[in-house]
Amino acid sequence: DSTLVWFRQDLRLRDNPALAFAAKLDSVIPVFIFDTACPEHCVPGGASKWWLHQSLNALNDSLDNQLHCIKGDASKLLIGLMQKHDIKRIAWNRAYEPWQIKRDTQLKQTLVAAGIEVQSFNSHLLWEPWQVLKKDQTPYKVFTPYYRRGCLSKSSPRMPVAAPKDLQIEYYSEIDNGIDSLELMPEISWHSTIQTMWTPGEKGAAQHLSEFLPDGAKEYKNKRDFPELGATSKLSPHLHFGEISPNQIWYAGINALNGNTEDIGLDCYLSELGWREFSHYLLFHFPHIPQKNFSPKFEHFIWRNDEDSLKAWQLGQTGIPIVDAGMRELWQTGTMHNRVRMVVASFLVKNLLIDWRKGERWFWDCLLDADLAANSASWQWVAGTGADASPYFRIFNPVTQGQRFDVHGDYVKRYCPELSKMPDKFIHNPWDAPQNILDYAGVKLGDNYPKPLVDLKASRLRALDALAQSKQQP
Ligand code: FAD
Repeated sequence: DSTLVWFRQDLRLRDNPALAFAAKLDSVIPVFIFDTACPEHCVPGGASKWWLHQSLNALNDSLDNQLHCIKGDASKLLIGLMQKHDIKRIAWNRAYEPWQIKRDTQLKQTLVAAGIEVQSFNSHLLWEPWQVLKKDQTPYKVFTPYYRRGCLSKSSPRMPVAAPKDLQIEYYSEIDNGIDSLELMPEISWHSTIQTMWTPGEKGAAQHLSEFLPDGAKEYKNKRDFPELGATSKLSPHLHFGEISPNQIWYAGINALNGNTEDIGLDCYLSELGWREFSHYLLFHFPHIPQKNFSPKFEHFIWRNDEDSLKAWQLGQTGIPIVDAGMRELWQTGTMHNRVRMVVASFLVKNLLIDWRKGERWFWDCLLDADLAANSASWQWVAGTGADASPYFRIFNPVTQGQRFDVHGDYVKRYCPELSKMPDKFIHNPWDAPQNILDYAGVKLGDNYPKPLVDLKASRLRALDALAQSKQQP
C-alpha cells in the first residue's frame, strides 16, 4: 500500500530519507501544503515565496507533474486526506521552527491514534539538536565547544541516500489544486533581475555546488570576506528549502578534497555549515529567539523609534556607501554578502540604535534565503543580545570595513553608481573628500548622494553609552 510523502523543506529527490523510505515499500503520494495555520511572524516573506513557487515547479517537474499542491491548515487537510483516501502510512522529514515542531507532534499523535503509521526522518540538519548536550545535560550556548566538542568529536553526519529508482507515484487530480493556487508569486513584478540570477530547485543547487568545489572550498578562508569576489557557495536559499541537504554538501566537500578534512579552507567552509546547525540548535532549545532578546538584560533597553532613518536604511540611502551598497544589493538581488550583512546590521542596531527586530523583519521579507533560525540568531549575534554574541562594544566601523574588504570600492560602485568616479581613497567616506575631488567625481552630497545619516564617531559613542547602561541593569 502507498505512503503519503509530505514535502516541506526538503524539495528534492536525492538524499530525501522520507521519500527513500516510502519508495522502497510501494508507491508514493507526494504532497506539498502551504500551511495557513503558520503564525504570522513565520509566514514566508515576499522573496521567499517567489523562490518557493519556482522550487515547487522544479520538484513537480522531477515528479512528472504529479506533485499534489494544496493551501490550507496542513494538519486538518492531512487528517482529512488520509481518511478519505484510506491512506495508512505517512512519512515526512523533520522541520525545526517551533510551531512546526508543535504541529507535527500533535499531528503524529492524532494520526497514530487513528491507526495510521507515521514515520519521520532527519534530512535538514547534520546533528539533531536534542542529541547534543553538555555534560550536565544542558544545551551549549557557545559555538566552538558546541561544534567541536558536542558535534564533531561525537559522531559523523549521516551519509546521503540515493534518489529512489523507478519511483511509483499515485496521483489524485482532485487533491491537486496546482502550484498557482498557492498564490506565491508577487503581484508587482519586482523579481525580473532576481530570476536571471538564480535557478531554484535541486538542479540549480547541484550546479552551485559543483561550481564551488573543489577550488571554492580551498580558497574559502582567504576569499570569503570580500563581497566583490563572489567566493562563497551561494547555497543558502537551496539549503533553506531543502533542495540540497547539508549532508550532501558535507560529503561532497570532503570527497572533492580527497578526504583532506585538515585543509583549512574546507574546515572553515564546513564550520559555516556548523553555524547553520548552531542557529537551528539555538532555536530548538530557546524557541523565543526570533522575538525576544536571548539575553534578558536587553528587554529593558530603549531602542530609538526613528521611522525616517529605518526607511533610509531599507532603501540604501544612509549616505554610508558600504551600507547603502549592501541594502541595494539585497533589494536588487534578494541576497547580501555575509560580511556586508554584519556591517549593515551593526549600523542599524548600534549607530542608529534601532531595534534589531525591525532589521530582522526587513531581511525576512527581502532575503531569498530568509530562515527563522539563521536570521534571528545572526541578528541577535550582531546586536550583542544573543548567545555567543559579538560583545556589545564591538561596533563595526563601516568605513574601515569597506576599506579592508572592498579595497577599490568595486562592490560599492556596482550598487551605488553615483559614486563610480570617486577615487579609492574616499569611496567609503565621501564626506571627507575635498571639494575638488567631489566635483571631479560629480558627487553632490545631499543632492545626488545622501549626506551621512549620522556621524559615525558620535553615534558609536552614543551606542556604547546606551549599551553600557543596559549592562548595569540587574
Ligand atoms: P557560504 O559562505 O558559502 O556558507 C555555506 C552555508 O553555511 C550557507 O549557505 C549557510 O547555510 C551557512 N552559513 C554561513 N554563514 C552562516 C551564519 N552566520 N549563520 C548560519 N548559517 C550560515 N543565512 C541564512 O541562511 N538565512 C538568513 O536569513 C540569514 N540571515 C542573516 C542575517 C544577518 C544579520 C547575518 C549577519 C547573517 C545572516 N545569514 C543568514 C548568514 C549568512 O550571511 C548566509 O548564510 C550567507 O551569506 C549565505 O551565503 P552562502 O550560501 O554563499 O554562504
